[in-house]
Amino acid sequence: MSTIRVAIVGLGKIARDQHLPAIARSEDFELVAIASRSATADAVPSFATLEDLIGSGIALDAVSLCTPPQGRHAIARAAIDAGLHVMLEKPPGASVSEVHDLAEAAKARGVSLFASWHTRAAPAIEPARALLAERNIESVKIVWREDVRRWHPGQEWIWEPAGMGVFDPGINALSAATRILPRALFLSDALLSFPENRVAPIAARLSLSDAAGTPIDADFDWRETGPQSWDIHVATKEGPVLLSKGGAALQVNGETVIDGGEIEVEYPNLYARFAELVRGRNSDVDLAPLRLVADAFMLGRREPVEAFFE
Ligand code: NAP
Repeated sequence: MSTIRVAIVGLGKIARDQHLPAIARSEDFELVAIASRSATADAVPSFATLEDLIGSGIALDAVSLCTPPQGRHAIARAAIDAGLHVMLEKPPGASVSEVHDLAEAAKARGVSLFASWHTRAAPAIEPARALLAERNIESVKIVWREDVRRWHPGQEWIWEPAGMGVFDPGINALSAATRILPRALFLSDALLSFPENRVAPIAARLSLSDAAGTPIDADFDWRETGPQSWDIHVATKEGPVLLSKGGAALQVNGETVIDGGEIEVEYPNLYARFAELVRGRNSDVDLAPLRLVADAFMLGRREPVEAFFE
């Protein structure tokens, strides 16, 4: 089977840390170019914009968009219109409606669109989903607490509109919860904490539920300088289930059954899925996590908190 010629758009932290190594290890993909305003890669030609890259005539089948969500739609739309398959980093866009537009455009053009959720590709996610399908769930507590200064140094876009603030990591928790829990989730209440000098929240408390009335609470906080948590605690009649390390580890009734740390499997898994979609001419665009974030901004009460300076 021929390799899929892919270009990366937006050569920043995640592109360098995860996408380049995952593509290099993949037998499905060959990196043929980069489009990034200021960054270049050594091994392949680099262009400032996707437009320049397409105009160069380099043979290309697909693009992987690693830019921030702001501006993602215009780039993705140009790629689709040029007949390219598109993989989107999470979150897939700056708004729900613009990603719907991309899904429709991809369908009309006959190309694949993959709205990727890297946390869903972590090793304990599918085992947790299978386990929870067999259990009686009583309640869920999501704890996603990290230090923004440690994980997002110098990233101003996360504080801008559509940067989503603490929902940038929080949407990963929601992508995991909407995959491992058996019923669709909806939001009933939210409290969003906005630093008085910022337009994006630094913390959020969410109350969610599902059709069975299961109480699901989420605690997202970017001010955590102690132990960092990326955990989902599920109380079931049959005993506790803990998904931790951002989906890499699983404890069942107090016993460790998967002890990940194998976070590097996420991006190889994502590219394997993208290859499968491209070869089958299918798309995978699940917007449930993005919808819940949009709902939190729509329903959430707001409180001002201490100003944030990096
Ligand atoms: P980043 O380090 O800021 O890199 C993004 C790159 O996109 C920049 O280096 C920049 O390269 C380009 N870009 C294009 N338009 C931009 C704009 N308006 N503002 C800033 N940069 C712009 O961000 P990142 O951490 O790689 O995150 C990118 C996406 O991946 C986000 O959606 C994020 O949620 C997701 N993600 C990040 C991580 C992580 O650990 N960092 C993990 C998983 C997913 P040029 O200046 O060369 O154009």
